[in-house]
Amino acid sequence: MNKRFIEPMQDIGTALFQVQKPARYVGGECGAAPPLGPEDSRLRIAISFPDLYEIGMSNNALRIIYSMLNERRNVLACERVFAPAPDFEQLLIQKNIPLYTLESGIPLFDLDILAFTMGYELLATNMLTIMERGGVPIETARRGEGDPIVIAGGPAITNPLPFARFLDAVWIGEAEAGFVDLVIGLAELKKSGASRRDTLILLAEHPSVWIPPSLEKSLGLPHKKHVVRAIFQDFYRTEPVLRFPYPVLSPVHAHGSVEIMRGCPNGCRFCHAGYFYRPQRSKYPEIIKKEVENLILRQGYKEITLSSLSSGDYPGIIELFDDLNTAWSKHKVSFQLPSLKVDSFTLPLLEKISEVRKSGLTFAVETALESWQCAINKQVPFEKIAAILHEAKTKGFKSAKFYFMVGLPVPEKGMKEAQEIVDYIERIADLERISIHVNVGTFIPKPHTPFEREAQLSEEEALECIQYIRRSLKYRKNIEVSYHPPFLSVLEGLLSRGDESVADIIFDAYSKGARLDAWDEHMDRDLWREVLTRFDEKRGGAAWQSFLAEKGEGEPLPWRGISLKVASRWLQRERERAQEKKLTSICTEKCTEKCTEKCGICGHFYSIVSKSILNKEEKHIGLSASDYVGSDFRIAGREFFPDSAAEANMLEVKLIAVWSKKGPAVLYPLHDVARSFSRAFHVTGYQVSFTRGFNPQPRLELSPPLPLGVEGENELLLIWINIPKNSLGGFEKFILERQNDVLSLLNNNLAKGLTVKSLGISRFNDDRKRTIGALLKATVWKYRFATKELYIKANTILAEYPNDFSLAWNDTAMAQNEIDLVEKFSGASGKTLSFYKILKSGLAVEAFVSDATENYFKAERIDCYGVLEDNGGYTKLRDIL
Ligand code: SF4
Repeated sequence: MNKRFIEPMQDIGTALFQVQKPARYVGGECGAAPPLGPEDSRLRIAISFPDLYEIGMSNNALRIIYSMLNERRNVLACERVFAPAPDFEQLLIQKNIPLYTLESGIPLFDLDILAFTMGYELLATNMLTIMERGGVPIETARRGEGDPIVIAGGPAITNPLPFARFLDAVWIGEAEAGFVDLVIGLAELKKSGASRRDTLILLAEHPSVWIPPSLEKSLGLPHKKHVVRAIFQDFYRTEPVLRFPYPVLSPVHAHGSVEIMRGCPNGCRFCHAGYFYRPQRSKYPEIIKKEVENLILRQGYKEITLSSLSSGDYPGIIELFDDLNTAWSKHKVSFQLPSLKVDSFTLPLLEKISEVRKSGLTFAVETALESWQCAINKQVPFEKIAAILHEAKTKGFKSAKFYFMVGLPVPEKGMKEAQEIVDYIERIADLERISIHVNVGTFIPKPHTPFEREAQLSEEEALECIQYIRRSLKYRKNIEVSYHPPFLSVLEGLLSRGDESVADIIFDAYSKGARLDAWDEHMDRDLWREVLTRFDEKRGGAAWQSFLAEKGEGEPLPWRGISLKVASRWLQRERERAQEKKLTSICTEKCTEKCTEKCGICGHFYSIVSKSILNKEEKHIGLSASDYVGSDFRIAGREFFPDSAAEANMLEVKLIAVWSKKGPAVLYPLHDVARSFSRAFHVTGYQVSFTRGFNPQPRLELSPPLPLGVEGENELLLIWINIPKNSLGGFEKFILERQNDVLSLLNNNLAKGLTVKSLGISRFNDDRKRTIGALLKATVWKYRFATKELYIKANTILAEYPNDFSLAWNDTAMAQNEIDLVEKFSGASGKTLSFYKILKSGLAVEAFVSDATENYFKAERIDCYGVLEDNGGYTKLRDIL
């Protein structure tokens, strides 16, 4: 393998067409950290959420860590890498190219640190794919001097033993509480020329870092018996620095997200996140508002999720929701509250949500009987649900989703739980005529919770319950039942509860080809079943099943060396309370001073942060939305870009932009290009106009899509914006006189390869019929051929279509192996033919902007033309729009 950085457009070239969504692998996002040169000696760290780009780019932990680390670019550079889809993995193997980071193309073997944030257990094999494809030995024992240190963290790895064979270190807890300092320490160590051993020793010394026992041994270190979770107490009063790239492909969660509260006061006994993120810390409303403002004005988001484990428990959620709606509704921004617990889901809150969206409600009931709800410490009284549903229906909600689990440690788990779920849903259906969606999952007794010693249902037991629920509700109209496959829950249970031997299962499954296991279309159950059978054969008996079985009170647990700071005595007491169906009260500030429950978290350093603390600390942080000061450009043209103004005082103006599409942008799909433009106009201050109707969209139109890989020289964009009435003349002058500033601001906010070349106001502002779709009659293309031979062949093909294409008036010299061609719409054949497509199949080669091979042609759309009404002659489309 070579040691230089990878340039995917150059090094992979045309072959990128062989894979789905090649834009996943070329970077170029607006807001990405600047690339490094191969000679740069700063510490190189890549952070990965080990799933596909669209999933990884939605991950909040990744955004936080990337932003925080890149604040320290004087000593380090943090880049991103995601899991390759199987088609791209094969391509890398074929071409002998190592997996690389998106910012600079650093081959992973050339990193100092490769860090994974593990959101769920089924990412395990993806982690190995990333390492192996990046040329990083996947087993700790095989890594040596010069190899990257591999670290992981996140809620799915609070029992690190199943991953011990693959990782050099595991960070336990919240990254803001010391991870950056640790990496800075490693950067300084690198500068001093420290060895791998010195680096590992520094890591091992940190109280929140776990090191695999085998590595401890080889380093000659004593076994660390106690690793404690890092808690970021100041979450509530720290404004996060969020400078994260704006994705070039729509991520799975395309909303902007503001974490309004960390932790949860409710203490549901089955919930691992509830324990991993203790204590509850609510963020200052001022900081939340500032984060929202940043997401809207600087990042261009129109939908914002106010996220937390239980958003309804945020103190003052209704006031916050009101304030945000008042400030931003005129900007067509909507806010969403996921994770609403029924207790906190008060009717006034329902009222607020219904103002924005009436699509559906979600109730995480978990278990049907109220006495069983006491056992899991989560009260979801039937009467309350019924009352909320009734109210919701009157407010226009049409559907409700109910989440349940089977296999919870209740007195009659299994089929009796299934029966109770059926009865519960039937009662609901009898009460309200609303469309009901039921989702059933299998309970996984997770480490560090009061149920950590409980048994998990087998796949067969869980399936029997789920099938029974499906069969029983099949005949009811308006009820749909879906479920999380119990086999996946079994794997998740195994990966979260196992010991170091489970690494053999992960390794075996990976070696046999397991990839992207959380994806239905990629998960190969037969492969995993074979691996599990082989594991049992090797170890004898029901070896893997033993990890899902009940554990006796005195029995050591694989995760015993890890402390989330919740006392084990307390977990035990909670388990006893569950058996007695007794509730434990929720955490309140009152309890912080004299906590009667005392789980072990609150004390001198940590405490819950709720209403009274937020009120008590008279701290005003940040700017309010109305204080926002934009870029220089916005200040200069501020009169045309009011942050808010009544619609009646605004005038809709049609702008025409000429833009080009080059480099990595030739791989961006058209709708993502449109998203990119709409965002760039928005964040540079323009008030983009929206379509009317149920789902308003930014009002813009682009020239017809170009095939992937084809450049565009003078593409067109129509975008409608609003400016204050009576300012059209001034605005025209402003755009003309400040054209360079206007363009450079827009271009700074676009993905790499998209460039606005000119911007002006349409002369036909009021003529709604003058659109690209209506007026486009011809396009001009330039084709360049790598060899004379290809050029001659292309001309022979062209001769077969004498009436569909004509050579352009500015046809270039034959010596340059180029053809300039006019493609008229509805040619002689009555159809609009694409010479590009004809060439592609006729020459049997791909077109691409850059390719190291000799066998290629390049295609570029040079311009778009319309027909002048008066003389029927062709004219540049931009002049008649
Ligand atoms: S110590 Fe008390 S208030 Fe603090 S997290 Fe534990 S139970 Fe809640």
